[in-house]
This record gives sequence, C-alpha cells and structure tokens, in this order.
Amino acid sequence: MTNKTKKLIERWGKPDWYENPSLKAEWEKGSSLSGRDIVERFWSLTKAGEGGCILWNATKTPEGYGKFSISHGTKVAAHRWILQRKLGGAWDPALLVIHSCDTPSCVNTDHLRQGTPADNARDMQEKGRGVYSHGESHKNAKLTDEKVREIRKMYREGRKTYKRIGEMYGVSDHAIEEVVTRRTWKHVV
Ligand SMILES: [Zn+2]
Repeated sequence: MTNKTKKLIERWGKPDWYENPSLKAEWEKGSSLSGRDIVERFWSLTKAGEGGCILWNATKTPEGYGKFSISHGTKVAAHRWILQRKLGGAWDPALLVIHSCDTPSCVNTDHLRQGTPADNARDMQEKGRGVYSHGESHKNAKLTDEKVREIRKMYREGRKTYKRIGEMYGVSDHAIEEVVTRRTWKHVV
C-alpha cells in the first residue's frame, strides 16, 4: 500500500472495493488507470465539508456537480460515477442519483441514492427546494434577503466579479449571476 493510499484510507475509511475483487474490477472499468490509482485520484480531488459531506474540489458543472475525468478526454459526473462503483451490479443507469444532503458537489456515497424523477421531485418539495420555494425559507439557503441586496449593489457598482462575490458568500459564481440577473430571489427588491 502506498503512503498516499494509507492517508486516504485514514481520512475516508476503507473503500468498498479494497477487499472485494468484483468491486475492484468495477472500479477499473472505463478507465485507463488501475482501480487503485483511479480511486486515489478521485478522493484526492475532494475535501471534507459540513455534515459529513465530502465535497468535490475540482471542475464542476454550472449546477455544482463534480466533473471527474476517468480517462483522457472522458469526463463523467463525479457523484454518479462513485455511486455506480459502490453499487456495482445493482446500479441502474436509467435512474437519477439523489443527494440526501442537497449538496450537488457532495460525493459521499452515504448521502447518495438512486431514484426516479418522481422520487427526486418529491424529495425537492419536501426540502422546499423545488419550484414552490424561494429565498430564505429553503433550509439550506446560504443567502438571505439582506445578502441578496448587498450582492446586487456590489455588482451594480462594478466593484466585484461574480466569481469574487461567490467566494465571499460561499456560493458558486453561477448562483451569483442568477441572483444579479434576478432569475433567483425575484421576490427581493
Ligand atoms: Zn453530502
């Protein structure tokens, strides 16, 4: 075992494939790297988050989902890939992957499960995340009405970029753009 693997295991626990040859073969599928190398690379692109979340710390989609490069030129959704590796034969490619923690960049498989679009819609409504919700009532909202006003003002005055403002408030630059262009937080004047 390399030192790096040892460190990763100390940090994240033993990956399931470690003692299971069939899962190890699953890890290796679709990659030019060996199972061990690719899982090391996967976890090396993450960082610890709140509430047990393991957050993707590399390229993301505008929605905040991690993008993992499994071989030269092939990028996959990190959360889907990791759950598929864990589930092996039980993986159903037709289903969505639902985050119980409501954090798109999270790749902790304990926070992920497969479900239908209907399951996802129900889940979003229960958490107040769907079309019926807006603003502060969303339990995981990082922004408040007041912060939204500050953000719009800051942007209007040309002092900061979306990216810089996003860093200040702990949200993506995409989220800031949506706030500024009033695609979200429309109710705040
Ligand atoms: Zn999570």
